[in-house]
Amino acid sequence: MQEVLYEGKSKLIFRGEDDASILIRYKDTATAFNGEKKEELAGKGRLNAEISNIIFAYLAENGVKTHLIRVVDETSVLVRKAEIIMVEVIIRNVAAGSFSKKYGVPEGTELKNTIVEFSLKNDALGDPMINESQITALGLATKDDLEEMTSQALRINRLLCELFEKAGIRLVDFKLEFGRAGGEILLCDEISPDSCRLWDMDTGKKLDKDRFRHDLGDVLEGYRDVLRRLKNNVG
Ligand code: UDP
Repeated sequence: MQEVLYEGKSKLIFRGEDDASILIRYKDTATAFNGEKKEELAGKGRLNAEISNIIFAYLAENGVKTHLIRVVDETSVLVRKAEIIMVEVIIRNVAAGSFSKKYGVPEGTELKNTIVEFSLKNDALGDPMINESQITALGLATKDDLEEMTSQALRINRLLCELFEKAGIRLVDFKLEFGRAGGEILLCDEISPDSCRLWDMDTGKKLDKDRFRHDLGDVLEGYRDVLRRLKNNVG
């Protein structure tokens, strides 16, 4: 067995093929509410890996710099080793989740412009929202880094909205992580139904982790549906 370098909530990290790479393996563990709710969903790792790999390949084809080097097997990818920027970027096209709760806006409310939010990547603190001057004051990222992350995130949003629209899916919101490697800022982590809100365009049916968060049932059926539709609409 290979030595696990790090174990996260939904992924295992192993040594890569050299010092500039690491191997990420997706786990079947589903967590929500900062790890308070936790369950094994057999097959989730494979589904998220495949969905995220399709999305990362599509973004790379469209000029987005990502950490992905190559797919190794059904649940593992080889990626460039990057220093993760401890700031998560959240993009919202439609009101939902914590935004709806915090600002008293019903889920599904259309927004007059795309929202870009930052949150501190810190589970112990519950990933609190953080603003630009707080981020630069703490030295988590520079103003230039944040500008680059924001413009990449908005570009990724445009590309993903187009991709999901073709698949009959509304991209409500999602979270991105970036890292630094070789003087560049790369898109890291994953883009999957664990990190996005995805609603069926016609019925409004939720096809993402909200099914797990709120015990809506058929969690992986939603993920399978997303994968099926993406496969029919890429390449
Ligand atoms: N999200 C995520 N990881 C986090 C926080 C949020 O992947 O640690 C995703 C979440 O799945 C949703 C979007 O980011 O698609 C916005 O999440 P929100 O702030 O509404 O928080 P939540 O309601 O998930 O607590």
